[in-house]
Amino acid sequence: MPRDYYDILGVGKDASAKEIKKAYRKLALEYHPDRNPDDDEAEAKFKEASEAYSVLSDDEKRAKYDRFGHQGVGANGGGAGFRDVDDIFDAFNDIFGGGAGGTIFEDIFAGQRGGRGSRKRARGGTDLRITLPLTLEEIAEGTEKKVKVKKLMKCDTCDATGARDGEGGHRTCTTCEGRGELRQVSRSVFGQFVNVQPCPNCQGEGRVIEDPCPQCRGEGRRRGEETITIPVPAGAMEGNYLSMRGAGNAGLRGGPAGALRVEIEERPHDHFVREGLDIYYDHHISFPDAALGTEIDVPTLEGTATLEVDPGTQGGKVLRMRNRGLPELNSQRSGDQLVRIHVWTPQELTAEQRATLDAWADAPEFKPSPKERKTKKSFFNRVKDVFT
Ligand SMILES: [Zn+2]
Ligand SMILES: [Zn+2]
Repeated sequence: MPRDYYDILGVGKDASAKEIKKAYRKLALEYHPDRNPDDDEAEAKFKEASEAYSVLSDDEKRAKYDRFGHQGVGANGGGAGFRDVDDIFDAFNDIFGGGAGGTIFEDIFAGQRGGRGSRKRARGGTDLRITLPLTLEEIAEGTEKKVKVKKLMKCDTCDATGARDGEGGHRTCTTCEGRGELRQVSRSVFGQFVNVQPCPNCQGEGRVIEDPCPQCRGEGRRRGEETITIPVPAGAMEGNYLSMRGAGNAGLRGGPAGALRVEIEERPHDHFVREGLDIYYDHHISFPDAALGTEIDVPTLEGTATLEVDPGTQGGKVLRMRNRGLPELNSQRSGDQLVRIHVWTPQELTAEQRATLDAWADAPEFKPSPKERKTKKSFFNRVKDVFT
């Protein structure tokens, strides 16, 4: 039998929405996988609490659960009420207002540092966020970027222990006698309350440093700068994040390092405008070339390509170069490059040129006859496929 959702969150059957949210928040902060790397038990608890919250925070699901139990909300007895991982993060983001952004993590790490989970445990470093500007060419091909990141780094002098003599430079905290937490028992008409707080003397570590490392003043980490190589996959788009576990700030006294979150930013391009996976490029041809046809060289993300322009090409015609756009992340699909043809009308003419054109001005071939272009079919025909 799966555990009762109210029991999981530690609230009564009549708990208000606010109480449920508060209870879940507390558990989520404590058991979030990012705070408990490689801890299967914490992960299971996180999932369990998220599942309970996703049901109890939804009035309709909660009513069904109250009437029919786990059966009523589709949980199948194995505690697998979630269809997929997204549900868990929906529940989580609902509270922490996350999404793709990094606020979830800042919230977690800025929040309660103490709590049962951190007892005697080395404390993790915070996440870092940087922006990585990329050109369209880099996005198209994928790239590796070396970036200097200012951050808290492991102190080499004390090997991150914080003590001048390394590992041996600690003694047991006398305030908490090594437990890392302090218990306070109080009585009231409702019964006995036990309040557990992380020990303020040792910050929950259970031991204190006898003689702090002079370089890091006992922190086990120092400000520094590290050159980090960031592998950017082809197709990474503006707004995408890459998360590099362990590349963020070093933890306190050997605690696990935070993550480095890299936000992709797209640099404006000199020639191209991107729309989704497609690349637009404007090309001007001369008035005689439009009439007689020509070959043009156009830049692409992978060098120059030659395109055929048919005789009688109108301004505004779009030539499509298949698969010359941007690749889609984690897929075989690519966008196209679209070349918009503009016909350049001469603005200054010599007397001779003027006379020549004037002689043809009334010729029927020079009369605009855009009628055929107004039909639906010919509108689509204006996008001409090349390289297919
Ligand atoms: Zn040190
Ligand atoms: Zn202590």
